[in-house]
Amino acid sequence: MTIIETVPKQLFIAGKWVDASGGATMPVHDPATGEVLCEVADATPADGAAALDAAVAAQADWAATAPRARSEILRTAYELITARADDLAALMTAEMGKPLAEARGEVAYGAEFFRWFSEEAVRIEGGLSTTPDGRNRVLVSRQPVGPSLLITPWNFPLAMGTRKIGPAIAAGCTMVFKPAEQTPLTSLALAGILQEAGLPDGVLNLVVTSDAAGVVEPVLRSGRIRKLSFTGSTEVGRILLAQAADNVVRTSMELGGNAPFLVFEDADLDAAVAGLMVAKMRNMGEACTAANRVYVHRSIASEFGTRLAEKMSALTVGPGTESGVDVGPLIDADGLAKVERLVADAVGKGAKVLTGGAAPEGPGFFYPPTVLSDVDPASELTGTEIFGPVAAIFPFDDEDQVLAMANDTPWGLVGYVFTRDLDRALRVSDKLEVGMVGLNTGLVSNPAAPFGGIKQSGLGREGGRVGIEEFLEIKYVAVPKS
Ligand code: ADP
Repeated sequence: MTIIETVPKQLFIAGKWVDASGGATMPVHDPATGEVLCEVADATPADGAAALDAAVAAQADWAATAPRARSEILRTAYELITARADDLAALMTAEMGKPLAEARGEVAYGAEFFRWFSEEAVRIEGGLSTTPDGRNRVLVSRQPVGPSLLITPWNFPLAMGTRKIGPAIAAGCTMVFKPAEQTPLTSLALAGILQEAGLPDGVLNLVVTSDAAGVVEPVLRSGRIRKLSFTGSTEVGRILLAQAADNVVRTSMELGGNAPFLVFEDADLDAAVAGLMVAKMRNMGEACTAANRVYVHRSIASEFGTRLAEKMSALTVGPGTESGVDVGPLIDADGLAKVERLVADAVGKGAKVLTGGAAPEGPGFFYPPTVLSDVDPASELTGTEIFGPVAAIFPFDDEDQVLAMANDTPWGLVGYVFTRDLDRALRVSDKLEVGMVGLNTGLVSNPAAPFGGIKQSGLGREGGRVGIEEFLEIKYVAVPKS
């Protein structure tokens, strides 16, 4: 049997695998062919309500569980994911398209959130101090925020889930988890693993649905959800923030990005090209951390473009299941159409195509690695997440000018800086309006680091020491000194 045949296809509510009420199913597609892989249960608002009931019912007992017990469940799940890395990677490649080697990388990265938060679960600390007048003790403790709604996108089907589920379990929160409709299989497999690892019934309730808005809104407006953790587009994030506002629900929002990638004239050019290959091509460019605008000092822009185009054109495009493939298909027809539109617009405004630039004929949503040079800042892609394998190079003349261009966006997730001048590196890192900076590196994501953005890229941080705080409330007890 293939992994797709063995993965559960139902909803997971109150510790049971159940059909959607009414029995509806929805298809999951292979982006390499456009064909249907299988059908999975398609939840209705009634299923969302059942998932919420289960999460609310399980909260008190779960909050009272020993931290070590929660830690051990996460640790066991980490071991299970690691042991089944090949199967999970195959599942991810099938439903999302990324090459198998990248999918294996995501399995390792995703599993690490469980290991990290298994270690954090037993380190939830409080404090004890005395007021300045000496009359009162200040007793501070941390409690789980309560039933949490977790919503994830399709681009990292495993890691986006574990990055939220890990800290929620560690903190003692129960959950309603709604993964993206394009990639439910990895999440279904993950729920099975958590069940096997001994997660008590009702702690994680998984609803897969083609009606995200219809299922999510009543849950979020119910007054019984205490926390929303969302990763997805700024557009949808704004809608959810408005819904959360009615009941003053705490939120963590990981939204869109528009990452600037700055290469100064004193940069190590080989390192900068290698860094951009990672920052641009990880996940076929379908990452909120993807370098969206590449600013290269005018004196080296042409050399940089030539070297980058050489590397990009050497990549092999094809189905992620085939060995030797570096670049898989984009997620769907809409994703492909958007990349085509953005490239056509930039070329129409004078950009030169150094490599790529046209989708191949045939099935699947493939787009070749593409380098555009001399891009006009007035191009649409300057203000739009490309979410595809297209590097757009803009020449610049000095530091102040490039900082102004880099910060001229409502987003502020991540920026990349390549320079060998330490003063400049730190100065530019300070001035970039972003939550994260990659200094002479194209990769910032790490479970041990606080991931998140400023401006319209989001609220809060995931991972690191602060990741668990998003699922904890502070309780202060005033105790008079006798
Ligand atoms: P992307 O553009 O990456 O698909 P989206 O923001 O559309 O990002 O989707 C991210 C997640 O948000 C997915 O799980 C999707 O189903 C969900 N989603 C989309 N629209 C809504 C909505 N109106 N209410 C709740 N969730 C939504």
